[in-house]
Amino acid sequence: MSKIVSIDTCLVDLPTIRPHVLAMATMQVQTLVIVRIRTQDGVEGIGEATTIGGLSYGPESPEGIKLTLDHYITPLLLGHDASRPALLMDLVGKLVVGNHFAKCAVETALLDAAARRAGLPLSDLLGGRRRDSLPVAWTLASGDTGKDIEEAERMLAARRHNIFKLKIGKRAVAADAAHVAAIKAALGDRASVRVDVNQAWDEPTAARGMALLEQAGCDLVEQPVAGHLRGAMARLSQRFTLAVMADEGLTGPASAFAHAAEAAADVFSVKIQQSGGLYGAARVGAIADAAGIGLYGGTMLEGGVATAASAHLFACFPQLSYQTELFGPLLLVEDILAEPLTYADFALTVPTGPGLGIRLDEDKLSFHRRDADRPRHHILS
Ligand SMILES: [Mg+2]
Repeated sequence: MSKIVSIDTCLVDLPTIRPHVLAMATMQVQTLVIVRIRTQDGVEGIGEATTIGGLSYGPESPEGIKLTLDHYITPLLLGHDASRPALLMDLVGKLVVGNHFAKCAVETALLDAAARRAGLPLSDLLGGRRRDSLPVAWTLASGDTGKDIEEAERMLAARRHNIFKLKIGKRAVAADAAHVAAIKAALGDRASVRVDVNQAWDEPTAARGMALLEQAGCDLVEQPVAGHLRGAMARLSQRFTLAVMADEGLTGPASAFAHAAEAAADVFSVKIQQSGGLYGAARVGAIADAAGIGLYGGTMLEGGVATAASAHLFACFPQLSYQTELFGPLLLVEDILAEPLTYADFALTVPTGPGLGIRLDEDKLSFHRRDADRPRHHILS
């Protein structure tokens, strides 16, 4: 038994290394919500909630996540026994509807604290890792074909990535398909080329696009149509050999079950934030396994904290047939970790220290945090 004595949150704005062009937004800065939970016995757990492009990707914004954590979730948890993360998340689930990203951050911090207290890497607490490193895709999203090819060549030469995801859906289908075909032609068998449409197409456009992408040698198309259009996703999955991956349509185990029941995807992009935390993401993984659906370890372009949390979970999955895209920290000019995560030989090394196996750099954190006044919620213990 160790009581939760404080929960602090802050927003951290980190510039990206280049503009990141998506169908719905262009990012120049990534905002992380960092949660720090301290317990009576002096253990600290860290969590992160991160979304993409403010409110352009999902229903939760960084500012809204912080508000939810400060005003609704923190008061529920203060004074409770930190050694029971699952029970605490049940309590949060009963009194806070939705808000998956906020829940993910607080659950991550609780799990980090529990694993640190036990002196174990988080993956050990989750059943034990099946792999020590995770292959990581890189997203080419400069919006320019020549620049994207140069960037891919640099990544291949540095042995950092040999899986590339192209963000398309902003331009006309023919122009997008030509962009993909040119990149695949330049890289050939040295790389897997995949696309993410971020829901930008309707079904007829997707059918035209997928026919062209199949010819271009593309390996995977992510969320070609809106997330709720599971019927269209099922028809596209059946019509093309090109694998169809669900991403925005997945919002946790219930949506994963609906996709599986309707054969609406060949692959799931499983994300801890969208799933409402690591437990939710583990259940999404279990549903995929039961339905014979491939798994891809997705990212919300998170910083080092949530990337490490995702890595611990994905390392435990029985299958991860489409690898991962845990490159978030590499998109940032500077992360807030004391030691950066290790990327080598086309893969991310799963940290081995207690808990998430990472530490925050307090100087970098105070330099990049948005608010000078820190809302703190304390109880006396
Ligand atoms: Mg996606």
